[in-house]
Amino acid sequence: MVPSDGRVSRCVAFPAAAEDNCLVPELPEIEITAHLIEPAVTGQVVGSVAAPGLNTIKTFRPPLQVLERHELTGIRRRGKLLIVDSGSGFSLLIHLMSAGRLQLFEAPASATDRTSRLLIRLDSGQELRLREFGTRQRAWAKVAGTGEVEVDDYLTGLGPEAWPDPPELGPLLDSPRPLYTALRDQTVIAGIGRAWVDEILWTARLSPFKRGEDLSAAEADSLRAATVERLDGAIHHYERVLGLPLPHKLPWPLQVHHREGEACPSCGTTIEAVHYRDYVMCYCPAEQTGGSRSRTAGFRGCSSSSGAVPEARAEPRPGH
Ligand SMILES: [Zn+2]
Repeated sequence: MVPSDGRVSRCVAFPAAAEDNCLVPELPEIEITAHLIEPAVTGQVVGSVAAPGLNTIKTFRPPLQVLERHELTGIRRRGKLLIVDSGSGFSLLIHLMSAGRLQLFEAPASATDRTSRLLIRLDSGQELRLREFGTRQRAWAKVAGTGEVEVDDYLTGLGPEAWPDPPELGPLLDSPRPLYTALRDQTVIAGIGRAWVDEILWTARLSPFKRGEDLSAAEADSLRAATVERLDGAIHHYERVLGLPLPHKLPWPLQVHHREGEACPSCGTTIEAVHYRDYVMCYCPAEQTGGSRSRTAGFRGCSSSSGAVPEARAEPRPGH
């Protein structure tokens, strides 16, 4: 779909699926979570709700217990957020942040399970569990009226969905900011993070350092097509290989992200990286930056994989 020059589409196969040792859930990972768990829990009555996570619940009113004794009516996604709907008239808004996972288990969590942040016990005996791995407690949830979810501050600030049918990207990205930054800004377009931005830009053969305002119409079209192609391909990949229970580590179908020093799957050139304090950006210098490494690619404040580590940049908001 993306290439018009006869190249093979890059989402035909994923020979290089990788485990997400330090990957943060993005649109495809959130989407498959909702897609797989929803049919298993819809119609089940909530027996009890508890929040072992000290800082997990952002709101005290209404209390979590308004969900009890009512059936769940669905799970959906908006941007990187999950929304659990209930027949109570209230919904639960969940953000997994960097290390959270929403998983369905056949039995209640052990009281000593330190990953438990939010526990929703169902009448079948199953438990829908928000877990978080690592030392930081950042995943959060809040209760809101189902009719009010769409006007919640966290949702109204989000840009249009990156999948399945994003708008034309030329006007959306028309600013001096580099594509790498603008595409991850959830207020510009919702759902893309550090991993999928690398993949999308590589598929579109666009430099991460290129300014949005410098995109030609053809480039903007390619970028939109690459966005749909890669996110769609990832979701279909997950549909083929995943089922319940969802594993903690998903088989991300990545081609360039976290593959610094490896051969580009398309042209064989060594993949370059720009290191930030907490993450890394990867790209193919031959296909994306005209052979330039980042030091000469016009992206101030960053260095190539052979250089020093630059300061981390502020995360796009909201959604983080
Ligand atoms: Zn390449």
